[in-house]
Amino acid sequence: MKGLEYLQAELDEMKENGVFRTLVPLDTEQGSKVKIEGKTVIQLSSNNYLGLTSHPRLRDAAMEAIRSYGVGTGSVRTIAGTFKMHAELERKLAEFKHTEAALVFQSGFTTNQGVLSAILTEKDVVISDELNHASIIDGIRLTKAARRVYTHVDMESLEAALKETQSYRKRLIVTDGVFSMDGNIAPLPAIVELAEKYDALVMVDDAHASGVLGKNGRGTVNHFGLDGRVHIQVGTLSKAIGVLGGYVAGPQALIDYLIHKGRPFLFSTSHPPAVTMANMAAIDVLISEPELIEKLWENARFFKEGLLSLGFDIGESKTPITPVFVGEDKAAYELSDRLLEYGVFAQGIVFPTVAKGKARVRTIVTAEHTKEELEEALSAFERAGKQLNLIK
Ligand code: PMP
Repeated sequence: MKGLEYLQAELDEMKENGVFRTLVPLDTEQGSKVKIEGKTVIQLSSNNYLGLTSHPRLRDAAMEAIRSYGVGTGSVRTIAGTFKMHAELERKLAEFKHTEAALVFQSGFTTNQGVLSAILTEKDVVISDELNHASIIDGIRLTKAARRVYTHVDMESLEAALKETQSYRKRLIVTDGVFSMDGNIAPLPAIVELAEKYDALVMVDDAHASGVLGKNGRGTVNHFGLDGRVHIQVGTLSKAIGVLGGYVAGPQALIDYLIHKGRPFLFSTSHPPAVTMANMAAIDVLISEPELIEKLWENARFFKEGLLSLGFDIGESKTPITPVFVGEDKAAYELSDRLLEYGVFAQGIVFPTVAKGKARVRTIVTAEHTKEELEEALSAFERAGKQLNLIK
């Protein structure tokens, strides 16, 4: 259709530069192996850390919810779309996170947008790590608050920002708990200390730490023993939890305020019963099957050591997210394509998701991977890495 030629021109340029991608449809359910275009490959690109997307208890909970309550809710939460189960999930999350209250949003993305846009005004300032997730960046774009960006995990840079923003009503420091493209953990104890020294608020996005770090996967705050010292904990129900949604956990006043002012919460239909009941079952699984998290970490350690001993650069990763740095965008796609040929699905991550020159293939092992699958994946990395001169 006429009118969109300007978009096509840009797409053509992307094709010329070898960075145009098509979506990769899976022919099977999510798991340690998946079928792509008829070929079974080892899955190293999902956020399904604990394999909960197909856990029998979650499946059963979802089926039962559909049978008893149907497939949709027919309204936003604040009009007619709050079912008892929504409140029950929120109670469960608050208890799990050791906070007064919690509120579920449609996704982790909209949670960050909703929280940041609601609680700050032009009288306030938000101070954000430079590598924070896109949903935090977009949330900040939606606020009228002033902004400061500090150098990634650099506490001197954060303190400098705190020193020069003392005239604002409120200062909110916001950070990913685990950085999604690098797998490093935010230095939360130092951040909290600075926040307490300068009387600032702290918000942590635990999308990649929920179900991964802390006792039973309670997240980075619990991991560092900082329960009660971080004002706002955001997380997702779409990664280790295995379903869909986002949540914010914190003081009752925060949650009550968001019920009135959190725009994605107010203006978007509530989660279907199957999603809500499966999310609840997932929290129960975190409590009753801690061996899943142990297996996840055992696999992560094994795979990281394997990549390191092959000579790959995996940066500062301290979690199951393990990037394999290759430099240029094209090299990331070449490695990813070659790996797929050898039976491993590991996506290349390029600009603008990561900085120019920092392209990588990002891997995430899960609790479901067997040792044999991980060994097979390491062999594929060795073969592809040598062919592309990434390792010797
Ligand atoms: N925050 C971070 C740090 C993330 O990595 C993601 C997922 N890409 C999100 C938020 C968004 O979560 P969701 O997929 O539930 O929208």
